Amino acid sequence: MSPISTCRDGTDRLMEYMDGVLDEPLRQAIDAHVAGCARCQAFVRSYAAVPGVVRDATRVTLGPEARDALRRALAGRRS
Ligand SMILES: [Zn+2]
Repeated sequence: MSPISTCRDGTDRLMEYMDGVLDEPLRQAIDAHVAGCARCQAFVRSYAAVPGVVRDATRVTLGPEARDALRRALAGRRS
């Protein structure tokens, strides 16, 4: 099985990976790719360092229902 081309897939997949919303097989595939990819490791580190504050603020501002609605809206727009 060839490694997933996370770099070419862009940052969307990596952000979903770090948000923990990916299906388990895909999450593991990205896990394996990031383990051997310095570029993705650097992105994971920078993403984990900066927007954690933003995510915390979002969690406080938006209740679970609003977050679900936002996630549904984003998913609908993407497909
Ligand atoms: Zn990569």
